[in-house]
Amino acid sequence: MSDLLIKNCNLGDRQNTDILIKNGVITEISDDLPQNGCPEINAKNYFVTSPFIDSHFHMDATLSYGLPRINKSGTLLEGIQLWGELKPTLTKKAIKARARELCKWAIARGTLSIRSHVDVSGDNLLAVESLLEIREEMKEFINLQLVAFPQDGLLRANCLDNLIRSLDMGVDVIGGIPHFERTMADGTESIKILCELAEKRNLLVDMHCDESDDPLSRHVEMLTYHTNRLRLNGRVAGSHLTSMHSMDNYYFSKLIALMLEVDLNIIPNPLINITIQGKHDVYPKRRGMTRVPEQIKAGLNVAFGHDCVLDPWYPLGSHDMLEVAHMALHVAHMTGADDMKACFDSVTSTAAKVLHLDNYGLQKGNNGDLVILQCKDQIEALRLKPTRLFVIKKGKVISSAKPTDYKLNIGGKAEFTDLIFKK
Ligand SMILES: [Zn+2]
Repeated sequence: MSDLLIKNCNLGDRQNTDILIKNGVITEISDDLPQNGCPEINAKNYFVTSPFIDSHFHMDATLSYGLPRINKSGTLLEGIQLWGELKPTLTKKAIKARARELCKWAIARGTLSIRSHVDVSGDNLLAVESLLEIREEMKEFINLQLVAFPQDGLLRANCLDNLIRSLDMGVDVIGGIPHFERTMADGTESIKILCELAEKRNLLVDMHCDESDDPLSRHVEMLTYHTNRLRLNGRVAGSHLTSMHSMDNYYFSKLIALMLEVDLNIIPNPLINITIQGKHDVYPKRRGMTRVPEQIKAGLNVAFGHDCVLDPWYPLGSHDMLEVAHMALHVAHMTGADDMKACFDSVTSTAAKVLHLDNYGLQKGNNGDLVILQCKDQIEALRLKPTRLFVIKKGKVISSAKPTDYKLNIGGKAEFTDLIFKK
């Protein structure tokens, strides 16, 4: 909780504005605020945004790429199999070290909230213990929301018992994976059980749902049905929803109305969806991301997730939410100016609504959390993925980076030295 005056902020629609943070809370946003003896930063009219939010991640698997081997086919199923091979060898120390490292990467890129799924399939709940400790250890710097995720299927082995135990231990959100249960009927049953548990415990829900190319998968429909039945409107998220990309258009027009009726939150994962879906296709190949522009146009909250960084499912990534939004707008044909801004919102303000974060946003009375980017607005941020000059949490600078050559970054021409030019 610190005091900080940030001069000359560019808020996108407002230039050279000052922001005053007192005791970690934004108390004033206005032009020409006087110096008041508290620490000061000059933003030099660079773009200032609320922190980035990653709405879907797997922190227990991250940075494990190549352990115990590489995913040769690049498929979701080989990834799940590989994770199953890695799990018995995991130690708490190793999970925590990798998670801690990932948090540092995220913070350096201006991400201060991550919703991470945590695998509750194993009886020892090692990943749960590890990530609960990391959540506590890192709370001054980054907000971690943990989702109890039955990776191997809720109705296989002891998974339901383990999931309940993980909630008792302090995991925040109820997860699921209906399309990975043995049958469509088991998938349906798992949704019913998990939504009833959420209602009983007054918790949010976020299920991996219809993460496949199967146009006949119907778990999103069931998720809306139980959300409606239990009056969980606005409190349930469907992650991935990739099968919607391949659904019959008439059925989609029915389904989106059901989603709207219960304010279903949508969490696509563009980097992963574009690489994992459509793998079995010959040309033309499906892109595999859910119908983002149609969902946003209908009025649903769509937030993007990074999902994976260097793990059994994805061999790349540096945990940069601007890279995620950049991929999303390409995959979804969202290059119109308003569409691009909506994609920026999907890793900031809309994501805050999906995760039910309190006191988020650059407004008086909200947390003094913000990022100064070396660019002029949201669209340039998406184009350049620029240097995060300052990352500020409750008025305290928790990460900073030296400015780079802005002119060169925005596409400036090469400056030949005399030596090269004369040759
Ligand atoms: Zn996931």
